[in-house]
Amino acid sequence: MEIKKLSPQGYCGGVKRALKIIIDAQNNPSIKKPIYMLGNIIHNKSVIKKLNELGIKSVDGKKNRLELLDEIESGTVVISAHGASPDVFKKAKKKGLNIIDATCPNVYVVHNNIKKYLNNDFNIIYIGTKGHPEAEGVLGISSKIFLVSNLDDIENLKIAEPIYVTNQTTLSVYDIKDIFNAIKIKYSNAIIEDKICNATTLRQKVIMNQKADLCIVVGDKTSSNSFKLQQVCQNNAHIKSYLVENETELDDNWFKNVNTVSITSGASTPPEVTQAVIEKIKMISK
Ligand code: SF4
Repeated sequence: MEIKKLSPQGYCGGVKRALKIIIDAQNNPSIKKPIYMLGNIIHNKSVIKKLNELGIKSVDGKKNRLELLDEIESGTVVISAHGASPDVFKKAKKKGLNIIDATCPNVYVVHNNIKKYLNNDFNIIYIGTKGHPEAEGVLGISSKIFLVSNLDDIENLKIAEPIYVTNQTTLSVYDIKDIFNAIKIKYSNAIIEDKICNATTLRQKVIMNQKADLCIVVGDKTSSNSFKLQQVCQNNAHIKSYLVENETELDDNWFKNVNTVSITSGASTPPEVTQAVIEKIKMISK
C-alpha cells in the first residue's frame, strides 16, 4: 500500500502564532500568573494537555467565553486564535485581569470589515457554525449581525438592505458557494466577501487534487477545519475519508483493498500526532 503525505497540512500560521504567544507568556516572569486559556486556545486535546503540563490553566466546557470568564478571578487571560467579542474584553478588563490577545490576524480582518459596514448602516449576514467560538466572537460585535449556516437559514432570513456578507475562516470552500448563490438570488445588491483563510483553502484544494483510494484526516473532532477537510474529501473529492484524533482510532478494516492512502491533518494538529498515525498505517500495511 502506498502512503502519501499531503502538503500543505498541519499547523497554520495563526495556530503557530497563538501557541508561541501563550508559551512565551508562561515563560515570561513579568506576566501575571496564573495564565488561563479562555476556551481552548486551539482545538486539539493533545496540545491543550501539553500546555496544562507547562502550568497553563484551561477554562472550557459548554459555556460561552463571557460565562467562562466567571471562573477566572486573577492572573492573565489569553484570547484564543478564534477571537472573542468586545464584551469579553470589557468584562476581563473590569475584573482586573491581564489580557493577552492571540486572535488570528485573519479573524481580525473579518471583525474589522464587519465594523466598517456596520458604521455605514449595513445589516450583516455572517456564514458560520452555531456555537463555534469564532462565530460567537463575531456575533457579539452587534445585534445587526445574522448567523446563517445553511440554505434553510437564508430562506427564513428577513432583513433589510443594504447587506454585507462574510464568513467564518474555516468553512468548506465548496459548500459556501451554494450559500453565496442563494444569498445573491434573495438579496441581489448584497456585497459578498469570502474570507475563508488561505491556510484552509490550500489544504482543501490539495485534498481535491489528490489521487487516493482512502484519505485519513488527523485532527480533533472539535476542530472546524479538520472536520471540513474530511467532508470535502468525502463529499467533493468523492474519496472515502475518516477523521481520527490519533493512531488509536485507526481501524485495520479501513485499509482492506486500498492501494493508496493519503494522510492530511487539520490546522491545529501537532506534527508528532500525524507522524504517529503514519507509523501505525505503515504497520497495518505490512
Ligand atoms: S485556520 Fe486560518 S483563520 Fe484559523 S487560525 Fe489558522 S490561519 Fe488563522
